[in-house]
Amino acid sequence: MNFFKKIIDIGLHILFPVKCHFCLRDQPSDYVHPLCPQCLKKLKPVNVPYCLFCGRSLDRGGDFCGSCIHRSSRSFDFLRSAYMFNPEIRELIHDFKYRGFKKLGLWLGQRMAEKFSSYREFANYDILIPVPLSVSRMKERRYNQSLILASVISRYSGLELNQTALVKNRKTAPQAFLGKKEREKNLKGAFSVLHPEEVKNRKVILIDDVATTMSTLNEAASALKKAGAYHIACYTLARE
Ligand SMILES: [Zn+2]
Ligand SMILES: [Zn+2]
Repeated sequence: MNFFKKIIDIGLHILFPVKCHFCLRDQPSDYVHPLCPQCLKKLKPVNVPYCLFCGRSLDRGGDFCGSCIHRSSRSFDFLRSAYMFNPEIRELIHDFKYRGFKKLGLWLGQRMAEKFSSYREFANYDILIPVPLSVSRMKERRYNQSLILASVISRYSGLELNQTALVKNRKTAPQAFLGKKEREKNLKGAFSVLHPEEVKNRKVILIDDVATTMSTLNEAASALKKAGAYHIACYTLARE
């Protein structure tokens, strides 16, 4: 684990040697982050208190956010995230996902791994499963952003990573352009578990980049539950 961390630190140093990814200001030669200290402050980590179900930061305290007090049933136990969604984290995720800045994912994965260890509610979970892409989406994008994030968290936490049990059966329309009901319809039956024995009676953490309406996580969790997973929680880089 330490060896891997060292390799990542060296890698990050080579990848982000001088300029801030956002403002392009020069940074000291030993600076290891892609963003300068000022731009780093624009990212908003989730802090206590947060909604005990969906993980959103709560401005006014309490246990649940307005939409979770009367929530309908979900296929997973709870969701946690490293950051609240804002224009800056959105920009980083887009660069990582769509604009070929694949290595940004290692740094984002590190941030997730650090925050992960502060969520004590994950203590009894034992396996990480990234939300998969369909075969055709994988061909277009060439890598699964959730798998990269999950791999880093696995190396840091020591939790098992499984990328074979859960699959996405078909390509679905991008969720960003759909309303809540349409998102749910779009994803109905989109995931299956190919190897139920790999998740049966396990406590699974689903990993994804962004949670908005939680439809994707809910549908993936539902497939895992049907396959016999005992408990399912979710962890994302950002919470919208
Ligand atoms: Zn900057
Ligand atoms: Zn909530």
